[in-house]
Amino acid sequence: MLNSNKSKILLVYTGGTIGMVKDYDSGALRAFNFDKLLKSIPELNQLDCGIKALSFKEPIDSSNMDPQHWIKIAKIIEENYEDHDGFVVLHGSDTMSYTASALSFLLENLSKPVILTGSQLPIGDLRTDAKENLITSIQIAALKEKGKSVVQEVGLYFEYKLYRGNRTTKINAEHFQAFASLNFPHLIESGVHLNVFKEYLYRHKNRRQLVIHEQMDNNVAVLKLFPGIGEKVLYSVLNTEGLKALILETYGSGNAPTETWFLEAIKKAIKKGVHVINVTQCSGGSVIMGQYETSAQLKKIQVINGKDVTTEAAVTKAMYMLGAGISDKLFKTIFETPLRGEMH
Ligand code: ASP
Repeated sequence: MLNSNKSKILLVYTGGTIGMVKDYDSGALRAFNFDKLLKSIPELNQLDCGIKALSFKEPIDSSNMDPQHWIKIAKIIEENYEDHDGFVVLHGSDTMSYTASALSFLLENLSKPVILTGSQLPIGDLRTDAKENLITSIQIAALKEKGKSVVQEVGLYFEYKLYRGNRTTKINAEHFQAFASLNFPHLIESGVHLNVFKEYLYRHKNRRQLVIHEQMDNNVAVLKLFPGIGEKVLYSVLNTEGLKALILETYGSGNAPTETWFLEAIKKAIKKGVHVINVTQCSGGSVIMGQYETSAQLKKIQVINGKDVTTEAAVTKAMYMLGAGISDKLFKTIFETPLRGEMH
């Protein structure tokens, strides 16, 4: 029997459109006072759970998100972990998939729900999508079965669907349905009832305590291939001072040019110690290294197989693994292993 009675939920407001107002002078949207935001949703009082709320001192547009903010959110969750049954993080949609992915790596052995949500229209707007997103996210975070949280991972709730956070991508800048998870089914669908697809929920193999990681290394770059990409561009990215990992967005199932200058440059960088990760620039599907001649070469020179990971999860996984000090020897094997259900 699913219920949400008496669950204690912590609401963390980081910023984003959900709580923004229009600036009188410029007409641009900017982050707003969180208390006022809460007062504009009296429906929260009708929910069957206790809600405590806290806010970033200076709420941000999520375009200003960075690894320090991710660590800050992870620490807030750690500090409040024992006293709460679930967490809802209000966040701008622009970089929400990056934050959801980052948190999934930073929060090891998570056994309570951390649900990220936001909206395309501010909460004060007549046609806002914010209320449904917020209220259902709280209900999902409060959901329990036999005394245990139903969701035990970092999720992203938007427009009637809960997704595994590290599988999502923002796919639309104006539709209410702004996110997609093309390589993994959604976990919950909200209709008249909350429909939970239990077979897809993430579960740990162990019952260890929550561990928070507090280091991320941003010596990472993303390079999207395009026909006609020049040697100089590739060289300058690969020779970036301090670069430790490159996410290479390749074509289709992981294919790239077979020209000597291209392969030699990648080979040299790998020899120098840069981890090069093959991720497809397609929205869905997987890298299959060796399926075509154009990826067999990459496999031969020890490029890491990103499989069906999103770019968002690849970037944050690389930052997390580098921050955790994973040795060069183990990096490839660990990256190719699913750590939080982010790849198959
Ligand atoms: N620019 C906003 C942000 O990401 C958009 C949103 O909230 O949806 O903070």
